[in-house]
Amino acid sequence: MQPRPGVPAEAVVDLDAIARNVAVVRERVGGPQVMAVVKADAYGHGLVPAARAALAGGATWLGVAHVHEALALRGAGVEADLLAWILTPGTDLVPALRRGVDVSVAAVWALEEVVAAARASATTARIHLEVDTGMSRGGASPEEWPALLDAVAGHVADGTVRVRGTWAHFASADVPGDPSVPAQLAAFEAALGTARRHGVEPGLRHHANSAAALFVPQARYDLVRVGLAAYGLSPAPDLATGADLGLVPAMTLQARLAHVRRVPRGAGVSYGLTYTAERDTTLGLVPLGYGDGLPRHASWDGERSGEVLVAGARRRIAGRVCMDQVVLDLGDDAVAPGEVAVVLGPGTRGEATADDWARAAGTISWEIVTRVGARVPRRYTGRLAEDLATGPAEVPAAGLAAPLADPADLVGDRA
Ligand SMILES: *Cc1c(COP(=O)(O)O)cnc(C)c1O
Repeated sequence: MQPRPGVPAEAVVDLDAIARNVAVVRERVGGPQVMAVVKADAYGHGLVPAARAALAGGATWLGVAHVHEALALRGAGVEADLLAWILTPGTDLVPALRRGVDVSVAAVWALEEVVAAARASATTARIHLEVDTGMSRGGASPEEWPALLDAVAGHVADGTVRVRGTWAHFASADVPGDPSVPAQLAAFEAALGTARRHGVEPGLRHHANSAAALFVPQARYDLVRVGLAAYGLSPAPDLATGADLGLVPAMTLQARLAHVRRVPRGAGVSYGLTYTAERDTTLGLVPLGYGDGLPRHASWDGERSGEVLVAGARRRIAGRVCMDQVVLDLGDDAVAPGEVAVVLGPGTRGEATADDWARAAGTISWEIVTRVGARVPRRYTGRLAEDLATGPAEVPAAGLAAPLADPADLVGDRA
C-alpha cells in the first residue's frame, strides 16, 4: 500500500501489540495481577485506547499518576480498578471517590484530605498506602509510617477509608544484583509487619515496576505495576532486549519528507552549521522536531546522531534537531518529497528503535516514547483498534488529511 499524500507525520500505535505485551508479562509473572501503568497519556501511546488494549490483554488494574488522568479514563467509560498515586494538597478528590478511583496515601495530611472527601461524597475511600523502602521519592518514611498507620486504623474503624493496597517503588530494579533491591524488599517486609501490628491489613501488596516484574520474582507480591513493558520496550535492554522478552514495541513514528535538495560539498547544515556535507549530497527535511518530542540531544555531535529510515537505509541527522524539523543526509540516493521517513518503530524493517534513540540522546526509552508530543496525531491499528472503535475516523487529528500506510508496508516497496 502506497502512503497517501498530505500527511506530515503521525504516530501509529498497534493496540494488539499492547494487549499481547501485557499477556506476555502476565504469563511471565504467573499468579500476581497486572496493573497497566497508563500515566502520561500511556507513555505517549494514547491514554484511553492503550488502557483498553491493556485490559484486553489481561490487565486487571490501571495505574496513573494524577487524579485527573483517572477521571479522564472514567469519563471515557473505563470502569476497571484504577489507582492514582500522586496527591497534592487541595486536590478535589470528591469526583474521584464518587467514580471509584483508588487513591494513594503517603502522609497524614493526605489521609485527612481523603477522609474529608469521603465524608463529602458519602463514600468509603479506597486507599493504597505508600511506604518508602529506600528510594526517598514518595511514600511515608520509616519514621512517619507508624503514625500514619494509627491514623489509618482509626478511619478504617469509622468507615471512611478502606485499605486496598500497600505499596512501594524500586530505585534500581533494572540493575541485576544491585544491593538496593533486596534492601528495599526487606524494608517492605518490615513495613508490612508494622502495618499488621498497628491493626492495618495491607491489602494488595505491590512493589514491582516492569523491571522488577520481569527480573525479580520475589518482588511480584500480589500485583505488578507494568508501564514500559506493556508498550513493548525492555526496562533493561542491555540485559534482555524487548525481543528476548517476547515484547513488541507498539509505537511507530513516521513522517513524509517535506523538502529535498542537493547541496555542494562543504555546505553547512541547520542551526549553528554544526554539520558539514563531506561531499555533494542530497538533504531531506523531516517535519518532526523537538516540538514533537524528538530529543535535541540526538543532534549530530560530530560522531553520531539519531537516525531515520528513508528508502531502505538509516540516515543520520545532519546538524541540529530544530523545533519542527530535522535535516537528513541522504547521500546520492534519488529520493523525492513525500518519501516516507520512519523515525522510530519496532525495528523490524531496519528503522531505529526507542532504545536506539535513547542511546543517541543519552536518555532512556521511557522518555523517548513519552515525549512524542500532542502535535503528532495518533493512529491506532490492529484488530483491537476496530473492536474498540478507536480507529482513524475517531482519532482527533488536526490537519490530518489522510492516514499514512500501515508501517508494515512502508519500506517493502523500496527494498
Ligand atoms: C511509572 C511507574 C511505574 C511503571 O514503571 P515502568 O518502569 O514503566 O514499568 C510503576 N509504578 C510507579 C509508582 C510509577 O510511577
